[in-house]
Amino acid sequence: MSDDEEIPFAVISNEELERAPRMKAGDEIICQTCSEKHVIESRMSQVRKDDGAMVPGTLEFLFYRCGSRMYMAGLDGKSVPGTIRAQRKEKS
Ligand SMILES: [Zn+2]
Repeated sequence: MSDDEEIPFAVISNEELERAPRMKAGDEIICQTCSEKHVIESRMSQVRKDDGAMVPGTLEFLFYRCGSRMYMAGLDGKSVPGTIRAQRKEKS
């Protein structure tokens, strides 16, 4: 697999997620696709019940949009490995 191929999924261990930096909706990240900043959005997971109805789950997905695509950025308040948070400017 070459470096510019997209990875279709990622596996994150609970330990890895535990150590990961905190992230919340409204944070900014540096996009690894276009190098611009994008704002983190969040959605709660949805669970399909036996009768087919969708109900809110308990997992929070953190993601950002780049062009027409969406990218995973974090889970349950933690950033996933490989997501680079934009540094807040200390001085201007
Ligand atoms: Zn981008």
